[in-house]
Amino acid sequence: MKYDFMLIRYAELAIKGKNRKKFEQILEKNIRQALKPFDGAKTSRSFGRIFIELNGHEEEKIAEAIKPVYGIYSFSPAVRSESNEKAMQENALWMLNDAFGEQHGTFKVSVRRTDKTYPVSSQEMNHVIGGYLLRNLTDKSVDVHDPDVEVNVEIREDATYILCKRYEGMKGLPVGSSGKSLLMLSGGLDSPVAGIYALKKGVTLEAVHFHSPPYTNDRAKKKAEDLARVMTRYGGRIKLHTVSFTEIQKAIRQQIPDNYEITVTRRFMLRIAEKIAEETGAKAVVTGESLGQVASQTLESMHAINAVTAFPVLRPLLTAEKLDIVEDAKKFGTHDISTRPYDDCCTIFLPSESKTKPKPEKAARYESWLDIEQFVAEAVSAREIQIIDAKDSGINEEISELF
Ligand code: ATP
Ligand code: MG
Repeated sequence: MKYDFMLIRYAELAIKGKNRKKFEQILEKNIRQALKPFDGAKTSRSFGRIFIELNGHEEEKIAEAIKPVYGIYSFSPAVRSESNEKAMQENALWMLNDAFGEQHGTFKVSVRRTDKTYPVSSQEMNHVIGGYLLRNLTDKSVDVHDPDVEVNVEIREDATYILCKRYEGMKGLPVGSSGKSLLMLSGGLDSPVAGIYALKKGVTLEAVHFHSPPYTNDRAKKKAEDLARVMTRYGGRIKLHTVSFTEIQKAIRQQIPDNYEITVTRRFMLRIAEKIAEETGAKAVVTGESLGQVASQTLESMHAINAVTAFPVLRPLLTAEKLDIVEDAKKFGTHDISTRPYDDCCTIFLPSESKTKPKPEKAARYESWLDIEQFVAEAVSAREIQIIDAKDSGINEEISELF
């Protein structure tokens, strides 16, 4: 026997009124996108659910592909059965065995009858199916209050639908339902995780990466590309803007006092990010900053850095613990790329000493020795733009960690 389709549940309470329709459309589109490699798998919507017609594809493969799609609350593979007792009983038995595997446990049968012309009541059907299951399973018992597994049987006019197994989804909102932001993507651990959290809230992302050739090599740049590629599993294609930062860093090295180099560097990055965000229609900048993690991430530092822009700067990891961020990076599949040993532009140029309480006025005074607008405009216009597509994200090898 085989599953016929996948029933997908989404969080209904979180969305109301007009937004609901838009939310459903975007979610269905994102699911379709994730199903691209599966010829013939089709989606449809009804009764506040999305259905995938599996068309012969294995349910585990489909589950892997849709698992990272934000906005899905949970999903269950299901069988379409003929509405006669024998067919229902056999399908339910097969499904219960599939759900339990080798494990022992308790179950419950819940029958619903949307076809009121069906001659037997739901209550009686519970017994007809439950009794059959008990007779054919030696190590399982019924627990109607707190069963390990529930077999849901819905008798409809066209057919009877049976489902049992349940996969948890990633929750959140479908990517594309909350506007666009620009992620500042370094090669480190934090920024990709921060980006994935933004995706989780439905934000579409573009990304900007700063590098300093020839002081940083191609492998540092490739790290950012590979991270963006993993991120496409959660949010579809990502446009990656790679900005050469060498000239600006050299100027900072020469002109700015050591203890303000980090602050000024970050202020330049943010100015450039703002310009790119404006061009691309992004409404905010996302960073991987986490309060107190390093000298440049004290509140005073963030204040001095943030002073160069009126753009909202979103910091999804602001209050997160480093250990939890590392765990998330492992779960999301970005960890092993982030920990590859190549220096990024900051580690190469920056002094070990830096101020934990920089003043915005002082940073501005030091910067006035540089032609800020010229540097920013040149860096923005010389940037390289790449589209990182979801199809190369290596989804089936690594994503199983999520289960
Ligand atoms: P990460 O692990 O994300 O590199 P971090 O703990 O190393 O963060 P910083 O180096 O202080 O922190 O950087 C703070 C944030 O600034 C990063 O999370 C990232 O969003 C942004 N950033 C830093 N370096 C770069 C870069 N080379 N390109 C793009 N963004 C960067
Ligand atoms: Mg870093």
